[in-house]
Amino acid sequence: DTILCMGAGISMANGFSRVIKDKPIFAYIGDSTFFHTGLTALANAVYHKANINVLVLDNRMTAMTGFQPNPTEVIDIADVAKSLGVEYVVEFDPYDFENGKKTFEEALQHEGPTVIIMRKICANEWWRQQRRSGQKIEVYHIDPETCIACGTCIVQYQCPAIYWSVDTNSKGKKYSIIDPSMCTGCSVCSQICPVKAISKEVDIDE
Ligand code: SF4
Ligand code: SF4
Repeated sequence: DTILCMGAGISMANGFSRVIKDKPIFAYIGDSTFFHTGLTALANAVYHKANINVLVLDNRMTAMTGFQPNPTEVIDIADVAKSLGVEYVVEFDPYDFENGKKTFEEALQHEGPTVIIMRKICANEWWRQQRRSGQKIEVYHIDPETCIACGTCIVQYQCPAIYWSVDTNSKGKKYSIIDPSMCTGCSVCSQICPVKAISKEVDIDE
């Protein structure tokens, strides 16, 4: 993995694609930065038929600098990518794990640049909106007796709401726990747990 600066992902991926031929190359960029510095690099990728996959993390705002609005309000990222000549452009809900997996598998079969737009409102902003409107937030819970401590939810997915137990379950094994004050109810952990130990549990009023 390489990180340089805001918006450099597509440019770097272009360069990597000239020398790395045996591995897939992914460039990450936010929705604001796509308009800030991504367009020129994407045009270059199309021109050079660079075999790269551009992942646009479209959370509908410029969350990093204070939740300002951005051009996605009036300009569609998929339309822009297509107009630049990208042949494979797809949008999906990043909380839909199986669909996301299928999308990535398809994109990796494509020759030339692809643009994959993961569109979902910023979790912080969504949470704020829920609280302001008095909506309940449905959080998830892990059954300590079913959890096999495989680490998929903590080590691989790395949801910050999940942590290891100090105690052990009846089998003497540690298990993972969800902090309900941090869970946004996205459901992804329940989709990826191999033993279905995670389920929707309680609603909390904020
Ligand atoms: S539902 Fe989403 S936010 Fe809540 S613990 Fe699972 S992955 Fe984390
Ligand atoms: S993915 Fe499931 S089994 Fe694995 S640590 Fe998380 S809750 Fe436990």
